Amino acid sequence: MEKVQVRDLQRTRDWIDTEERMIAAEGERRPAPPPPEWLIEHGIGIRPAVRVHTGQCWDTRTRCKPVPLDVARRALSEGIPACPHCRPDTALGILD
Ligand SMILES: [Zn+2]
Repeated sequence: MEKVQVRDLQRTRDWIDTEERMIAAEGERRPAPPPPEWLIEHGIGIRPAVRVHTGQCWDTRTRCKPVPLDVARRALSEGIPACPHCRPDTALGILD
C-alpha cells in the first residue's frame, strides 16, 4: 500500500515537473498572461468568499481565486462585500 502511494506521489511530482518546464518554455516565447480581471478572496478553511477584488488590487493577500466577470458580479449581488481599496462594485457599475 505504501509503495503504491510513493509511486503515485513520484508520478505526480514528475508530472508537475513536466508541466512547470512546459510553462517555463512557453513563457520564453510569449509574454506573461495578463492578471485576472476579478478575484474572490476566501476565508480560512471552508468559509465562503469574504471579499471581491479587481485583478489589480494590492490588498488581495493570499487566498484569492481568479474568477470571470459574471462570477464576480454574482458574488457582489449575493452580498459578498466589495474590497474598499479597489472597489470592484464601482468597476462593475454596481453602485451602493
Ligand atoms: Zn481589492
